[in-house]
Amino acid sequence: MIVIPLDDIKFTCQQSGKCCCNPNILVTLTYMDLSRLYRLFENDFHQTLRRITFYRFKKKDISPDLLKKVVLHPIHSSQGYIVPSLKKHENGVCTFYFKPNCSIHSDRPLACKNYPIAFDVKNDQLYCIWAKNAKSTCAGIGIGNLIPLNDLEKQGRYFLEETEKHNLIISEINHEESKGKPLSAREALWILIAYGEKQRKL
Ligand code: SF4
Repeated sequence: MIVIPLDDIKFTCQQSGKCCCNPNILVTLTYMDLSRLYRLFENDFHQTLRRITFYRFKKKDISPDLLKKVVLHPIHSSQGYIVPSLKKHENGVCTFYFKPNCSIHSDRPLACKNYPIAFDVKNDQLYCIWAKNAKSTCAGIGIGNLIPLNDLEKQGRYFLEETEKHNLIISEINHEESKGKPLSAREALWILIAYGEKQRKL
């Protein structure tokens, strides 16, 4: 699969913090992100949970079409259809943001590492685009040199690998759930973290 940039991809972070403070930006978390957070909190599940919230889908919105559009598939838990994401303060600022920097920079979630770039798979091609509303939020777009295609490809492949594996785990969780009682959100998170931990040890 090749990566096709749909624009001149030039970006240099200006450390404005606008993305980390934007209440409309949702940072969804893959199983590897959850595992990284778990390690940051020294394997303390309770402390990890305190930094996580859930984006909720209504049952009526869940359809094959939706699953093609969303990057991370929702878990069918006893609390509804949920996608884990980073908790924010009431004013919309990420709890890990301490002006002017991210306090977990090297362990930040995949979505943050890619921002303002996003990837979209269509007809077996991986398109490199600007994340939703990034052009009106991010001051670093268009600044600096073109990002080399090799770098975008590497980033795109990593994104694809991690999100595909994540969605495979979700489909296993949802399949098990369809046979019996749904897992709680907490149990589902624990399974995702355990997969991440296992992957790290490979
Ligand atoms: S984790 Fe870091 S980079 Fe991501 S939104 Fe929070 S402060 Fe910003």
